[in-house]
Amino acid sequence: MGRPAGGGAGEAGTGAGGAAPAAWMREAIRLSREGCAAGKGGPFGAVVVETAGARIVGRGCNEVLASNDPTAHAEVVAIREASRALSRFHLAGCELFTSCEPCPMCLAAAYWARIDRIWYANTRADAAGIGFQDDFLYEEFAAPPARRRLPLVQVLREEALAAFEEWARSPGRRIY
Ligand SMILES: [Zn+2]
Repeated sequence: MGRPAGGGAGEAGTGAGGAAPAAWMREAIRLSREGCAAGKGGPFGAVVVETAGARIVGRGCNEVLASNDPTAHAEVVAIREASRALSRFHLAGCELFTSCEPCPMCLAAAYWARIDRIWYANTRADAAGIGFQDDFLYEEFAAPPARRRLPLVQVLREEALAAFEEWARSPGRRIY
């Protein structure tokens, strides 16, 4: 295990990649059990750790059942909480600890959030073993669009393009 990319100078031993990864992961696992026992969703937990401060800035468990939100996976919940806590839409300088290898949605969310590193415990095969078919999504995305189960149909491109053109001309636009 190397030092995390986001580790600040002079912070030796305090980053998420230092002595603490097992402790951060144990918190993610604790959340996975707690959320599941409370009936919030499946047995998945996650924490976002700010590397330089060696502190948890976001916690989450799967809340799909409790919130009727299919996107309320532990990692997404933790990323949202961390972004609120840090008042920024990117989480560079942070690492994600998740009790299970992320599904494609959560993996993409971590990319969008510019997380420095993802640590995981259970594998997607372990998840499949208890009935969570994350593997199915990885297979879908690897397949050509025409062969996926979810049809992807294009319509009204010209009209939608007008919004893009307006944005591209806007002097106040923010790239993120
Ligand atoms: Zn997920």
